[in-house]
Amino acid sequence: MEISIVVPLYNEEKNIRLMHDRLVSSILKITSNFEIIYVNDGSNDNSFLELLKLSNEDERVKYINFSRNFGHQIAVTAGLEYSKGAAVVIIDGDLQDPPEVIPEMYALYKEGFEVVYGQRLIRKGESFLKKITAKYFYRILKKITNINIPVDTGDFRLIDRKIVNDLKNMPEQNKFLRGQIAWLGYRQTSIFFERDERKFGETGYPFSKMLKFALDGITGFSDVPLQFVTKTGIFISFISFLVILYAIFSHFILERTITGWTSLIISSMFIGGVQLISVGIIGEYISRINKNVQNRPLYIVSETNVENK
Ligand code: UDP
Ligand code: MG
Repeated sequence: MEISIVVPLYNEEKNIRLMHDRLVSSILKITSNFEIIYVNDGSNDNSFLELLKLSNEDERVKYINFSRNFGHQIAVTAGLEYSKGAAVVIIDGDLQDPPEVIPEMYALYKEGFEVVYGQRLIRKGESFLKKITAKYFYRILKKITNINIPVDTGDFRLIDRKIVNDLKNMPEQNKFLRGQIAWLGYRQTSIFFERDERKFGETGYPFSKMLKFALDGITGFSDVPLQFVTKTGIFISFISFLVILYAIFSHFILERTITGWTSLIISSMFIGGVQLISVGIIGEYISRINKNVQNRPLYIVSETNVENK
């Protein structure tokens, strides 16, 4: 098997056929020895029915049907675990990542790069909020982690089998694949592409999922938020020590006692806020430790036509 294509699907019934046709015609430019693994991540629409129809017509179609929605990163992880190709391409199922770029990626792979990721030049048809949060998220992430996660990249990429095997040895429950692949090293390169708007349907990434994903990325690759808690604590303690000194000085030397409800309530609310934020930050790390300690299976497969994973 030369190439496996992994496509996560969540409510993509209208995109599947078009996606498949475009995928097949661009991969045929490289090889006829390939498989396309569609992972249906608990869609509420007829995505799975579409997949079954497709797999009856085309034996290169592999499907993995989850028992419920487990999330995009988990769906991709499952696809990688079931894949057999020497090279594996991860691509979205909504046609935002153009399949026509894959032969270019493959050419770079043949030149000796283990990772060829797509870097977005422009993003069409996405909300201002999404673009701006994504832009700053990747730049902040780059600042606070010590691994080189490329900015403006999604999971659209071609990776070598070695990377797939290494990813299998990274058992974290909260996947942040683009970070994990950057962490692995090897020879990595990028190609630029224009990200299209999604053809049909709507995004499966509402703000709540984006936030969780961002926190997975930060907690998985950086201790800076924890250090921030410590540093803020030290800073506030220092300031309050100065205030105490001033209050004593004012009382005994200047013989003016500082009074006031305002200063009391402001300072106690301020420290209350800082404490809650700090506990929240620590809580984000603890909840991830908890998940990893439980060590549940990452996903549950209800149907698949892939023999021996
Ligand atoms: N997706 C998934 N599970 C989810 C949400 C999304 O498998 O819970 C898939 C979706 O079908 C698509 C890809 O992940 O192929 C990217 O999701 P989407 O297009 O909704 O995100 P966006 O491009 O808006 O960030
Ligand atoms: Mg999309």
